[in-house]
Amino acid sequence: MIPFNKPFLTGKETLYIEQAVHSGKISGNGGFTQKCQSFFEEKYGFKKALLTTSCTDALEMCALLIDCSYNDEIIVPSYTFVSSALAFARQGAQIVFADSEEFHPNVDVKKIEALITNRTKAIVVVHYAGVAVDMDEIMQLAQKFNLIVIEDAAQAIDSYYKGKALGSIGHLAAFSFHETKNIIAGEGGLLAINDDKYISRSEIIWEKGTNRAAHFRGEIDKYSWVDTGSSFLPSEITAAFLWAQLENLETIQNKRKAIWDYYFNGLKSLHESGKLKLPQVPDYASNNAHMFYLICDSLATRSSLIEYLKETNIHAVFHYLSLNKSEFFLKNNKEESLPNADHFTDTLVRLPLYFGLGITEQKKIIKTILDFYA
Ligand SMILES: *Cc1c(COP(=O)(O)O)cnc(C)c1O
Repeated sequence: MIPFNKPFLTGKETLYIEQAVHSGKISGNGGFTQKCQSFFEEKYGFKKALLTTSCTDALEMCALLIDCSYNDEIIVPSYTFVSSALAFARQGAQIVFADSEEFHPNVDVKKIEALITNRTKAIVVVHYAGVAVDMDEIMQLAQKFNLIVIEDAAQAIDSYYKGKALGSIGHLAAFSFHETKNIIAGEGGLLAINDDKYISRSEIIWEKGTNRAAHFRGEIDKYSWVDTGSSFLPSEITAAFLWAQLENLETIQNKRKAIWDYYFNGLKSLHESGKLKLPQVPDYASNNAHMFYLICDSLATRSSLIEYLKETNIHAVFHYLSLNKSEFFLKNNKEESLPNADHFTDTLVRLPLYFGLGITEQKKIIKTILDFYA
């Protein structure tokens, strides 16, 4: 069976974990954590980077940092992973779902303004498949209505909008190092802070509501409970694993892009003949090859394609049942239709894409899809 995903190990993960274990500092915010955080700040220009135990945690930190509460509305795309909405719903905010573009799963920026009310506090954007949302338009809207922009950049490591790193444009951003992402740590994440006003508080929320990080740096002589927060920081074991991945970021990205391009060229004829649609990357966006997906013409076609691939021992998957149709959301909200999000829910299929995917396997996948459409 060609699996959908296979975590890639660079070879140094266990070595660095051993170093972390024997360093005498296994809890969070040690040497490996600081190395990873500096890497992100320097390479991508985040004003401050904090490792977290997941992207979900980083989004929860965002919700606390913006004091998200019952009176607030948060605009979130419907076609996304649960955490993009959950982190804010958990603070009691009303989630207002936005539809996707017609030909891309990213949020349709033109439709956001109509959703803004005097209770709107923030817009969460998701760079689907690591492909940028049009951030100039988002930031202009945010400025006009005095809103906070949070980038759910879970899939968007090492990807760019007009040359600017994703995660460095919004006020806050969250990344994931879950084993299905490009760069992994098992479970892991990162909060990027780009607005100075959130920096000092972010460290406190990260460390259980205490000013321990400042104490650790010798800035204050004892630490105490000063704010809300939780235990959001990962141990050095996670950071050590992540460091081994970051050292190989370029190799990983280049390999994934080569795999992506090979799919695109191999399947182009189906796009041209209108049998299916291949992913499109706008001029302002880069492609970090997080994902390779196809858009089928209907739910029925997608189901038979996935079944056909499975019979040939290829594991392809679909994802994202629009959140506006989720059981949890519908408990307290009316059902509404968001036609483009619903369309991707029914027709999008993801192909295997991982570092170790060989050329023979990829040829087999492409041939099977071509056969299916023949
Ligand atoms: C993977 C993902 C998340 C969740 O990341 P975790 O690190 O597992 O919490 C959130 N949002 C999006 C868009 C994702 O793809």
